[in-house]
Amino acid sequence: MLKKILNEARITFYIEATGPLLIKDGETDEERKERKEREERGGRRGTSPDMRFVVDASDKIFIPGSSLRGVWRSWCEKIARTISDGKPLACDPFDDNNGSINISCSKILEKEQPSEVYRLSCPICKLFGNTSQASRLRISDAYIEGPPVDREKLPVRDGIGIDRFTGGASSGAKFRYQYLIGETFKTEVQIRNFELWQLGLLGYLFRDFKEELVPIGFGKTRGLGKVKGTVKEAELTFYGLNAPEIDKNAKTIKISGIGTLYNEPDRENYGFDEKETPLEIECTEASRTAIKTTIKIGDTQAEALFTKVADYWACLGEDNKYSGYFLEAQARRNEMLKEKEDV
Ligand SMILES: [Zn+2]
Repeated sequence: MLKKILNEARITFYIEATGPLLIKDGETDEERKERKEREERGGRRGTSPDMRFVVDASDKIFIPGSSLRGVWRSWCEKIARTISDGKPLACDPFDDNNGSINISCSKILEKEQPSEVYRLSCPICKLFGNTSQASRLRISDAYIEGPPVDREKLPVRDGIGIDRFTGGASSGAKFRYQYLIGETFKTEVQIRNFELWQLGLLGYLFRDFKEELVPIGFGKTRGLGKVKGTVKEAELTFYGLNAPEIDKNAKTIKISGIGTLYNEPDRENYGFDEKETPLEIECTEASRTAIKTTIKIGDTQAEALFTKVADYWACLGEDNKYSGYFLEAQARRNEMLKEKEDV
C-alpha cells in the first residue's frame, strides 16, 4: 500500500430495508439455549426468538461494516465475471489450488513486492485487498437513521428449518426469527488511492443496489434481505501537485485516478494507468488550498458521477486505451499460473 494518500472518496450510503431484514447476531447454540430458558422462565414461553438481530455493545441495532464489505465484495466478483468473457477477472479468494485458473491472488502473489502484488492482482483484490495487501475500501458500521429501534420490540416470524445436508425442509425444526422492515441504515464508505475504474466498478454495484438486486443478511435464498441502496452524498479529496484545478466560473471539475496523480518513478511498477482520461463531473462545492482540492457532491450529482465513471470499468474487459496496463497484468498472471503448474 502506498504511504502517501493522493486521493480519497467518502461516500454516504443509505440502505433501506424494503423487505424483511435480519442480520444475525453471533450467539452460539449454547448461549441461545441459556437465553431461551431464561426468557421462558420469565413468561415468554413459545414467543422468544431463536435468531436475533445483531446489536452493538450499547444494545443498538446495526449492520456491521465487515458484513457489508463481504456482500459488496462477492457482488463485485459477480459483476467482474459477467464482463470477463471466460478470462479470470476475479480470483476465488478461497481457491489455493496451484494450476487452477481462479487461484486466489494472495496465494499466487504471496512472495512478491507490494507494487507487484498490486499490479498483478485481480481487479477485485485491487479494491478489496487480500491477505497480501490492505484494502483501499473501508465501510463503517451502518446505523438506523431516525429514532432508535428497540431489539426487544422487533416483530418475530416462524421459519421452517432447512436441512443443512439435503436442502429440504427438516421435520419439526421450526424456528422463530426477528426481522425489521422499512428502516433505513446509514454507512460511510471510504476509498483511498483509487483508480477511476474502481469507482466505475462501484458504479455497477450501486446501480444493482438501487434496483434492489443485492440482498443482504439472513435468508437471501428464501427472499429475505431485500434492500435498496442509494448514494446520498459524496466528498472527493485530491492531494499534491496534480490535484484538479478549480475554475470558479465553471460548474464542473475534472477528477483523476491515482494513475495521473502519482508522479513517482515506481508508478509503472504498480501498473497505474498514467494515460487515464480525467472525468468531468458536476459538483455543489469545490475548494482548493495549497495542498488539496475538495469537492462535494449531492445525490443527483453522485448518481451522474457513478453512471459516467462506470465506463471506466466496462472498458477493462476490452482492449483499448484504458486497459493496456490491465491486459499486461493479466498476461503476466497467466504466465505465473503456468509456471506454478509446471513446478
Ligand atoms: Zn484476486
